[in-house]
Amino acid sequence: MNKNPIPLFKVFMSEEAADNSKKVLQSGYITQGPVVDEFEKKLSRFFNVDKLITVNSATSGLHLIVHMLKNYGLTDDRVKIENDDDHILTTPLTCTASNWPILLNNVNLRWVDVDSKTCNMSLDDLQKKLTKNTKAVLIVHWGGYPIDLDKLRDIQNDFEKKHGFKFVIIEDSAHAFGAKYKENLIGSHGNINSFSFQAIKHLTSVDGGSVIFNNTEDFERSKLLRWYGIDRNENRKDFRCEEDIEEIGFKFHMNDVNASIGLSNFDEVTNNLLHIYIENAKYYQSELKDVNDLTLLDYSEDNSVPFWIYTIKVKNRDKFMLKMKEKNIITSRVHERNDIHSAVKKFKEKLPELDSFIDEMICIPVGWWVTPDDREYIVKTIKEGW
Ligand SMILES: *Cc1c(COP(=O)(O)O)cnc(C)c1O
Repeated sequence: MNKNPIPLFKVFMSEEAADNSKKVLQSGYITQGPVVDEFEKKLSRFFNVDKLITVNSATSGLHLIVHMLKNYGLTDDRVKIENDDDHILTTPLTCTASNWPILLNNVNLRWVDVDSKTCNMSLDDLQKKLTKNTKAVLIVHWGGYPIDLDKLRDIQNDFEKKHGFKFVIIEDSAHAFGAKYKENLIGSHGNINSFSFQAIKHLTSVDGGSVIFNNTEDFERSKLLRWYGIDRNENRKDFRCEEDIEEIGFKFHMNDVNASIGLSNFDEVTNNLLHIYIENAKYYQSELKDVNDLTLLDYSEDNSVPFWIYTIKVKNRDKFMLKMKEKNIITSRVHERNDIHSAVKKFKEKLPELDSFIDEMICIPVGWWVTPDDREYIVKTIKEGW
């Protein structure tokens, strides 16, 4: 029996984070400045992209994306929400942070069913639900496991042949920091991406996020809209007073304190910790494959995935959870399906595939804090049955 519970999440905070943030705190300049620039450069190099901004959370980033889709249009096709029939197709199996920004922008959504093999959006159901009013598709890489981006691209190209524009692909990549689809990192596949640096994500800046754009106009506009619409680089007559604001914006920018913490954690996470998530998941993948009443998700070896959460399907899930709790192993479903909440009942629709496995899903500890002894203990405990 393990003495201490094996947690499902653990904050990684490097030794340097306290020192580096203290330097910023005492520097006399703590809001968005040179350290944010440095963090953005570091992230851009990591993802190999050149249109990345940081924001104060992924939720803010997603809000900004939908705001821009509604008011200005996005991507080279300048796709825009024009009327009440226009909508975003999205997955219900995610954090409310993925979907509430759509609704808070007064944009309509439609739920797409969920693939029981991966917990990602069902691309079959997506194809059935696309109409000329589908302006964007928001996907989540559940647990970090990439949705089939090539297939999604094919669907987008077919859609363009029929409707004359490409729906915007928004990747909510909060679970997928450091995950690779085939050879390349999630974030670098040419879609709009949102990442989170919240406390329990792979990389934390305490709170924070980033958005990657794929069009220069969008990227430049986003830098203004994240800070009231004010150009921080303009020449001013009075240093406190902005010149003209053409488009009103939010207060969504990151500050140098958060950026210094994100930077302090970056190297350890990307050089060492991500690898542990990958190895722990591989261990489960081989050790749990023939366990009674347990089904693994269907993960392709083509992708390299530091699973943020490791999801399995088990019969008698509640009994499974109880047994794990007794044995000091923390488990959870992590995110409630968004479509069942009263607040969104008007969007309700039948999602038979999600219904078919939602009662079997459960996530077990997989992160950097799970030692080889821990994971052996977890597998042994599961194999005892529940
Ligand atoms: C954590 C999370 C978010 C929100 O991130 P914040 O930075 O806390 O706003 C969004 N989507 C998913 C899928 C998440 O897991």
